[in-house]
Amino acid sequence: MKIRRIENLSELPCVSEVPLGGILSNVGNSAQYRTGSWRTQRPIFKADICTNCLLCWINCPDGSIAVAEGKVTGIDEMHCKGCGICAYVCPTKPTKAMSMEQGGEY
Ligand code: SF4
Ligand code: SF4
Repeated sequence: MKIRRIENLSELPCVSEVPLGGILSNVGNSAQYRTGSWRTQRPIFKADICTNCLLCWINCPDGSIAVAEGKVTGIDEMHCKGCGICAYVCPTKPTKAMSMEQGGEY
């Protein structure tokens, strides 16, 4: 953004010409942005031992557990923040169907 020095107050725009701040002009577009890029850990899903209890899906704060026809199908890598809640709540033993690994990239 270019900053212009104003020498004369009459050059200032009138209040009605100043755009309002804090206005979302294009709502409902969060899915278009890659918000998981700062992830430092990533969830690893093992479909072969998943019981499809959907605890991970219910608890994921980002809605990043992909589900189709009542079954977990994977992770939304574009939006998952790597918080680890899905792995924490996953009940399968002795191996978790959802676990965390270091590193954000798949
Ligand atoms: S790590 Fe966090 S954001 Fe990513 S899928 Fe699991 S619960 Fe959701
Ligand atoms: S919590 Fe674990 S067992 Fe349950 S659906 Fe998620 S990955 Fe599968």
